[in-house]
Amino acid sequence: MLKTDILIIGSGISGLFFAMKIAKKRPDLSLVIMTKETAKNTNTRFAQGGIAVVTENLTDSFAQHINDTLQAGDGHCDENIVKMVIEQAPARLRELLEIGTLFDKNEKGQWDLGLEGGHSQHRILHHKDSSGLEIEEKLLKIIKKTPNVEIWENHQVIDLNTETKKDKTTCTGAFFYDKKHNRIKYIRTRTVILSTGGCGQLFENTTNPKIATGDGIAMAAHAGVAIEDMQYIQFHPTALYAGKENPLFLISEAVRGFGAHIVNEDQKRFLFKYDLRGELATRDIISRAISKEIQNSSKNHVYLDCRHLDADSFHAHFPVITSHCKSVGIDPEKDLIPIVPAAHYQCGGIKVDQNGSTTIPNLYAIGECARTGLHGKNRLASNSLLEALVFAHQAAANVDKTISKFIFSTKILIPKFPKVQQTNDYYAFAILKQELQNVITAFYTSNDRDADLAFEKIKMLNNTAISQIEAHEITIPFIEFSNMLATALIIIKQCKEENNNRTRSRANI
Ligand SMILES: Cc1cc2nc3c(=O)[nH]c(=O)nc-3n(C[C@H](O)[C@H](O)[C@H](O)COP(=O)(O)OP(=O)(O)OC[C@H]3O[C@@H](n4cnc5c(N)ncnc54)[C@H](O)[C@@H]3O)c2cc1C
Repeated sequence: MLKTDILIIGSGISGLFFAMKIAKKRPDLSLVIMTKETAKNTNTRFAQGGIAVVTENLTDSFAQHINDTLQAGDGHCDENIVKMVIEQAPARLRELLEIGTLFDKNEKGQWDLGLEGGHSQHRILHHKDSSGLEIEEKLLKIIKKTPNVEIWENHQVIDLNTETKKDKTTCTGAFFYDKKHNRIKYIRTRTVILSTGGCGQLFENTTNPKIATGDGIAMAAHAGVAIEDMQYIQFHPTALYAGKENPLFLISEAVRGFGAHIVNEDQKRFLFKYDLRGELATRDIISRAISKEIQNSSKNHVYLDCRHLDADSFHAHFPVITSHCKSVGIDPEKDLIPIVPAAHYQCGGIKVDQNGSTTIPNLYAIGECARTGLHGKNRLASNSLLEALVFAHQAAANVDKTISKFIFSTKILIPKFPKVQQTNDYYAFAILKQELQNVITAFYTSNDRDADLAFEKIKMLNNTAISQIEAHEITIPFIEFSNMLATALIIIKQCKEENNNRTRSRANI
């Protein structure tokens, strides 16, 4: 029967960094990282802009980075967490450098620090425009050499198992689908780390890859863990417009920091009407401004204008963006780049304390699936890779201290559905997924969000999904779709609660 001391679900920056740290501290513990596709298939590998860290004290300071983060979060951040993350950043950066992660330097040998929206200083370390890929590859290289860690690719976790004794609930294992052998299995464990990333795939336009379906949120909610702030989904203002393509290619915030302008169909800049910082305002402000401009225009997009920038320098800083644009017939040196806002980042998630611990003491959540209190209503650009590192570090230190309290459960569970039905119902679920994306996008982006109508539509989709599967059998697309439905319901519910709170506080004025 399968067992591991620590089960890590997800192979992005947070899961890998956690594994690296705890494996080094505790060579006596066994670790399994499960990931539903190949290990590299993560949000992390797509991160372009980089990681925000205060690396010099002449013009920058922790206080300024803290202030920028609090301002972006619009009064909803936890100040102690903001302080902890930003002050720990240099130490976590050193650990990335120690494993050989490369960030760009200028001719003087100093960090080539990027500027992004909402930051009052240049403080973004980057590896050209493929910072996430560089970090992911270096972490994977280390993990593959670490003897007490195994990576199980193409293993999709379906649900967590919990046991309650004397009013104390612990997480004792997980059911997962082994894609290669087409079996559903159970693994016992003493500690579980959810590092499953975000839920961008719930929306029509998103920058998130296909794996971002909110699985961690659905599993945690099912286990009875608190989920918060799911009403704050961050839209990135500059995804490359490509009709119905999913995901959309991201044009990094750093391009605006580099001097690009956003213009409307008349080739006029319009952002200063909405915020004095223009192109350097935070993402929520720019996304809303673009949506308004699109509503008042004959086009489904606006444009990013890079034509006035130095072409050689642009290409050197953004080789991936330049070559992607060229591959679809757009030359940033000569052409306007069509852009739209797209769902990009989940600011809320599984509620955790400063150690990444959830309301179940041996269940942790780190990275994008966690709600730590850092981002508030709106994440400051390039703060999420940093958050993932800091919370992975905190969780590793805490697991080291507490794991001795948790022993393997003697219960060995047999999955009710040992095999997954290998039908070709992918098409039916692809249509259902599109309908779900339509419902959530229409609900989330409308001015008067009708939560009851959205709930009804989701219920109907759920009934259709259940009718697609034969009794006593489950299918692969059903597993993922049911997580998406569960996460969608949480978003709608939390939007509704926020709306009610707002109405109540207006009534009290
Ligand atoms: C295009 C793009 C650009 C970005 N640029 C930046 C940037 O410049 N700076 C920045 O700070 N942030 C950026 N972000 C955000 C940042 O990349 C993510 O927040 C971060 O990488 C999330 O890391 P993670 O470890 O939480 O999860 P991820 O990297 O998303 O990894 C999630 C993992 O969980 C696995 N998983 C999910 N569900 C299951 C399941 N049921 N069973 C098994 N495995 C599962 C997935 O397969 C994957 O391995 C960007 C995001 C995108 C999409």
